Amino acid sequence: MAVAIYPGSFDPVTLGHQDIIERCSKIMDKVIVGVLRNNSKSPLFSVEERVTMLSGVIGHLPNVEIQSFDGLLVDFVRQCRGDVIVRGLRAITDFEYELQLSQTNRVIAPEVDTMFLTTNLKYSYLSSSIVKEIAMYHGDISAFLHPDIARRVREKMDGID
Ligand code: ADP
Repeated sequence: MAVAIYPGSFDPVTLGHQDIIERCSKIMDKVIVGVLRNNSKSPLFSVEERVTMLSGVIGHLPNVEIQSFDGLLVDFVRQCRGDVIVRGLRAITDFEYELQLSQTNRVIAPEVDTMFLTTNLKYSYLSSSIVKEIAMYHGDISAFLHPDIARRVREKMDGID
């Protein structure tokens, strides 16, 4: 059974993330979405909120699980008995960082490989940080997020105002 680990901050989950998860779930036997707990980016949503939001939008996929994790990604992969890490590639700027990350992981855990899925063109510009920036200035974020996620982001921003 081939198990993929798709790690990230998902702060919040965007339609770009959802697209990668859905496509990956068709290729792999099982996908574990790993939500990073300790984050130097000081997330807008707590890890519990991010897990709940992900469950709401991808919970219908039978071979997808969501777990939070802390510490080294390769340790999480080993603990889940994962076969491969999956990452999304949007632009050439992602490539440099992702290449470095995957090669570093290969050195510390030679049995853990990384697989890349290229973005769906319609989400190639999309990132959680851009969405948060638009929301901070009360811009329309409905094209980037599932309606329930967009509502949660607006509520969170209203609470901060
Ligand atoms: P990180 O904080 O590790 O960058 P993110 O939550 O931003 O985590 O993203 C997790 C993964 O999803 C990364 O591999 C990232 O490249 C990918 N990703 C993010 N947005 C998109 C998108 N619009 N299309 C395809 N992949 C994406």
